[in-house]
Amino acid sequence: MYAQVALPLPLKQLFSYSIPEDCTLETGMRVKVPFGRRTQIGVCIETVAQIENTKFRIKSIHEVIDTKPVIDCAMLELAKWMSQYYRCSLGEALETMVPSFLQQKSYSKTIAYLQIAAHEEIEQQIEQLQTKFPLQARVLKLVREFDGELTAKSICNRLGISRSAIKTLLKKELLCERFEEQNINPFDEIEVEKVEKPQLSREQQSIVNNLLPVMREQRFFPALVHGVTGSGKTEIYMRCIEEVVDNKRAAIVLVPEIALTPQTVTRFKQRFANVAVLHSELTNAQRNFQWQNILQNKADVIIGPRSALFAPVSNLGLIVVDEEHEPSFKQQNTPRYNARDSAVKRAQISDIPIILGSATPALESYYNTDTDKYNLFALHQRVGDKKLPHVSVIDMKEECRDHKKFVYFSRILLNDLRAALDKGQQAILFLNRRGFATSLTCPQCGYNAKCDNCNIALTYHKKHHTAICHYCNYDYIPPKSCPVCSCPAILYAGAGTQKIEMMLKKIFPENNIVRMDSDTMVGKGKYEDVLSRFGKGEIDILLGTQMIAKGLDFPNVTLVGIISADTALQVPDFRAAERTFQLIVQVAGRSGRGEVAGKVIVQTYHPDHYAIQTAIHQDYHSFLKYEMGQRKDIGYPPFAKLLRVLIQGEKEQLVIDESLRISRCLRQDKYAKNIQILGPAPAPIDRIKNRYRHHLIIKCQSVQLSMHFSVFLDRIMEDSHKSLRVSLDVDPISL
Ligand code: ADP
Ligand code: ZN
Repeated sequence: MYAQVALPLPLKQLFSYSIPEDCTLETGMRVKVPFGRRTQIGVCIETVAQIENTKFRIKSIHEVIDTKPVIDCAMLELAKWMSQYYRCSLGEALETMVPSFLQQKSYSKTIAYLQIAAHEEIEQQIEQLQTKFPLQARVLKLVREFDGELTAKSICNRLGISRSAIKTLLKKELLCERFEEQNINPFDEIEVEKVEKPQLSREQQSIVNNLLPVMREQRFFPALVHGVTGSGKTEIYMRCIEEVVDNKRAAIVLVPEIALTPQTVTRFKQRFANVAVLHSELTNAQRNFQWQNILQNKADVIIGPRSALFAPVSNLGLIVVDEEHEPSFKQQNTPRYNARDSAVKRAQISDIPIILGSATPALESYYNTDTDKYNLFALHQRVGDKKLPHVSVIDMKEECRDHKKFVYFSRILLNDLRAALDKGQQAILFLNRRGFATSLTCPQCGYNAKCDNCNIALTYHKKHHTAICHYCNYDYIPPKSCPVCSCPAILYAGAGTQKIEMMLKKIFPENNIVRMDSDTMVGKGKYEDVLSRFGKGEIDILLGTQMIAKGLDFPNVTLVGIISADTALQVPDFRAAERTFQLIVQVAGRSGRGEVAGKVIVQTYHPDHYAIQTAIHQDYHSFLKYEMGQRKDIGYPPFAKLLRVLIQGEKEQLVIDESLRISRCLRQDKYAKNIQILGPAPAPIDRIKNRYRHHLIIKCQSVQLSMHFSVFLDRIMEDSHKSLRVSLDVDPISL
């Protein structure tokens, strides 16, 4: 007997191996096989009695790992669909589905945190390393800042480096390791008391009445629940899940990573006995534990970010995708799948219902309700007669003119903040930027400090007096005067969270202000800690980035301020208006969730922009109408399918030549006249880590065309120069 095995390699074919006499092997079991000089772990796709004319000697399987399949038929079908639709190998798709499974089973029980070995000499050491071994110096600096809180893996991720610098530092005994018994899954520690279910509102009841029969029938039924923030969408999901669980089936609930808060998990734990939480911070051992539980059907509700879609539930009865419009459902590396769309596919394969929910549905999803692919359910009111918050837009051009200088806070925002704080209420301030200042700009000549590698504006970080590139993390010494015109007043224009925090603390010295962004929320439990203190009222103003835009539900928050609505508007992407609209609506939704009516203040230099005007009235339909019109005129999704080819390489000419070659090949295809090819052009971020980036965008008027061209591109890309990285993104979510 022979096995056809999928390996986690970018090679599209399956590999044949002979099955040793004494082994039982079925489809969906993992096997260890020789590959070249190494061994690989793959998944058996098929066993066959014979294989046709092979040129190669067939090797034998080393070991069958499982006693029963870890991938069932439905999951295998989903993997096949993903590999075809998103153009990856079957092995790559399977590797994404069962991440820690395809790797070796070395689950460590302890975690090693890195710390500085000798604090007294550390400054000196950093200085010595600075010139000859700058990488090591950067590692030391980072470890010094978060002493004993970062693992080698997180340091590598943050700095975008390999482990070698860390290994050297350990060998030199400048760093040492602190071992800690692996902490248990933080979400497992959440203990709750069961709560009574609320009486449904009329709107909720009518939707639930429609959905429950489908839950019982268990058939493919895609529903889009469009409900304003605070309208009680989650309660609808929970009623449906209840029905499914009562019938001995399980549900998967996908939420964006940043919305996976203890609050969210608590709400589900209050209602369901067996809730499993999957998230990216789990160690392999924890993930394995959860997976085993799920495999044995011990979990009724599985909550997690996009990868939780692949939870190995054999008795799946429902999938819920909350905040379905969220870009984070799209994976940005191979396989570049969209978890929302893949979830719909999984539901279709398993013939079960799926609920997508959002206050601001993606245009693609709403369009699917127009074409009757999805069933639309709408909630127009917040539960309990709570009013939507009142939103005011402040024109910052006027503010600056009246003040005769550049200001970050409008008078209204400051007045309202003070009024709320005086009444003992809380506020959330939102800013889409980290750091002290976004750019180092010369007021005289307009010079803008940028990263040499990435051509991205540098961010000034006050704590270490460095300017950092937020794409490659390279740090620079900020110039004292403008390098072009020598003007000494290099202006710190455009504030990041750090600068705003500092200014706020000056204005409100009596109040407790906490900043929440990925710079401050490093280390275990910090995030949970801040949220719990905020919930208890120990923090007056919470200032933060995207991290605070979702899922938070604090009744005492009566004021939400958006420091600058323009950051999202200025991103070079056709979805910029949609993102801005979604952002304002979501952030505003954090206000007035308690008894007191909420207020929202949006600061912008473009107060008349339609995305801002419609967002302040939470007027999804007017936005939709305008935006759909625009998309239709220019032929963007949902009226076209996009394919994006990104070509990256160190030699720019090679990159350009290759993008031209691909474009030429495309134009020679017999269907070329039915598509539109944009570019080749430099990508919006035209260089990252010294690699030039050019791209091509292909607009296809139908799914058939986009399928045809994605297959065709695959073939063209096989001839790409080996020094280049060429990747294809089907349905790209950001350009
Ligand atoms: P959404 O997900 O639409 O933003 P949520 O489901 O978070 O809204 O509901 C907002 C708040 O209202 C939550 O605190 C929730 O517990 C509460 N809630 C939901 N439905 C009801 C109901 N029928 N009666 C009372 N409170 C409800
Ligand atoms: Zn850079």
